[in-house]
Amino acid sequence: MKSPATTPARAEIVVDLDALRHNVRTLKERVEGTGLMVVVKADGYGHGMLPVARAAREAGADWLGVAVLDEALALREAGDEGPLLCWLAVPGEDYRPAVENDVDVTAYTVPELDEIRAAARAAGRIARVQLKIDTGLSRGGSTPEAWPDLVAAALAAETAGEVRVTGVWSHFACSDEPEHPANDAQEQVFRWAVDLAERAGLRPEVRHLANSAAALSRPSSWFDLVRCGIAAYGLTPMPEVAGSEELGLVPAMTVRSMLAVVKGVPAGSGVSYGHTYVVPHDTTVGVVPIGYGDGIPRHGSSKAPLLVAGQVRRIAGRVCMDQIVVDLGGDDAAPGDPVVLFGPGKDGEPTAQDWADACGTISYEIVTRIGGRMQRRYVGATEGATG
Ligand SMILES: *Cc1c(COP(=O)(O)O)cnc(C)c1O
Repeated sequence: MKSPATTPARAEIVVDLDALRHNVRTLKERVEGTGLMVVVKADGYGHGMLPVARAAREAGADWLGVAVLDEALALREAGDEGPLLCWLAVPGEDYRPAVENDVDVTAYTVPELDEIRAAARAAGRIARVQLKIDTGLSRGGSTPEAWPDLVAAALAAETAGEVRVTGVWSHFACSDEPEHPANDAQEQVFRWAVDLAERAGLRPEVRHLANSAAALSRPSSWFDLVRCGIAAYGLTPMPEVAGSEELGLVPAMTVRSMLAVVKGVPAGSGVSYGHTYVVPHDTTVGVVPIGYGDGIPRHGSSKAPLLVAGQVRRIAGRVCMDQIVVDLGGDDAAPGDPVVLFGPGKDGEPTAQDWADACGTISYEIVTRIGGRMQRRYVGATEGATG
């Protein structure tokens, strides 16, 4: 990611930190009385992890969450000192810096817990560990069968003065479909797992299960803490149920570029690789200098929308590595005119959800993958933040 230059940006990602703070406050109010973790993994879903983390804390995020240890350590290096959880490690992971920096790490299995214990001994510090139970996602986490052994091992590690079990948590598979029977089933397994851990003598500070969709649709799943990613960025986690505006959320990311070239092409001309789009009549085309090398999904070929020359148009033909073409239909347009790929949708521009629908994916993937050679620029009250 380049830092902003003084010349007009060929292509830029504008992140509105006021929108982000608004979303964090909205979520906090929504789950009143329950803690809020803002998930800033994957470079803050493409918005820039450090500025997003700072803004989230300013707006009252009680916890931050990341996937991998490197992300957690980058937050600590940038000065973040608040509660921070990470949840994805590999065998042989070096947990010591995490233990030394008071990062909550997650154990799925006894061998993982053993590695964390070894790091705690090496660091001469008590490791903060959360235990994850797989309640039905069949991804990471202890199976229910292995849970009693993991709990027993964690108790032994507490007794040995090596760890403190700070949390018990799990993750939903289908919370974007509030009526899906898996939600109730997972919640039930989670209650069983928490109960077993507490009866065994663990005293976790936080028990948590809900992601954005569950935070917005399922109060029974809130427990002590909800973990919100996508909603904090202003996008709906459940597009089939409610749009972001309906949820009171404001999309924080706008992606803009400009027309690099405008020229006439005669009827019957094939446009871009493979000639999958053929212009039906004499027209003008505009070239936008961004492509899949900047994270534009090639699946958006002839489908994804952009606002240019006063109206929303579809990409004409294939998305190339560095360029896309748009059929301007002879409308008034000149090189240098702005092109908006997506944004909050307030000024007629498409949204990240529109892009997700056009590309057969979810808004999470759209905002997270966009970037490449684009510049990122921050607006909102925090001054001079770059990422
Ligand atoms: C990414 C992630 C989240 C956030 O999910 P959203 O749907 O973006 O709110 C929460 N918990 C875990 C474990 C995650 O990996």
